[in-house]
Amino acid sequence: MAQADSLAEATANATWSRMLQGNRRFYTGKAEHPWQDKETRHMLTDGQNPDAAVLACADSRVPPEIIFDQGLGDLFTVRTAGQIIDDAVVASLEYAVNKLHVSLICVLGHARCGALETADRELDELMHSITANADDSLATADAIDDFDEQIANSDSIVMRQAGMSVWQAREAELECAEDFERVHVARTIEMLVDRSPAIQQALAEERLMIVGARYELESGKVEVLSF
Ligand SMILES: [Zn+2]
Repeated sequence: MAQADSLAEATANATWSRMLQGNRRFYTGKAEHPWQDKETRHMLTDGQNPDAAVLACADSRVPPEIIFDQGLGDLFTVRTAGQIIDDAVVASLEYAVNKLHVSLICVLGHARCGALETADRELDELMHSITANADDSLATADAIDDFDEQIANSDSIVMRQAGMSVWQAREAELECAEDFERVHVARTIEMLVDRSPAIQQALAEERLMIVGARYELESGKVEVLSF
């Protein structure tokens, strides 16, 4: 995390406050839908200068521009099911940081995420098949010990990322979907930093802040996560 007096951190904090204010407008039914007029559209034809990048789930109920009540040119958004990361996601976020100079990346998970629900179900199925195939309780225990590896080697990227998040949350004795969603946001940030030397460098040079958040479908509120 940047020093309190760094300009980038002040900018990132101001941006994040603005986004949370926008979310408040949205969930209280007072959205302003800013910067969506013809003049703004014309003004932006020569280039973009977004304040933040958002990595969010592709779920149709979670569009960052709407839930943060932002307009054209405000947010650089990257969205995949379960905000899962691959090379294209990493490259897009690196572009936002190094070429567009955003000082903030928000990783946004959400309630009732289908990717996590699917991963949760598939974990149960995998566990069931392991215990059904094991000859005795010792073999079952061994197989469960190797479970991490089985998930890590799964053919499915959803399983490798969202499934691993659910599994690690369960290993930490967390049981509810809300906690799985929070753990998945934390792990997504870890994976993103881990996979991107450019983002590591931006963090080290204190020109980038990364925040985790979780969107509640019913209330419309964004929960700020601290890890
Ligand atoms: Zn989702």
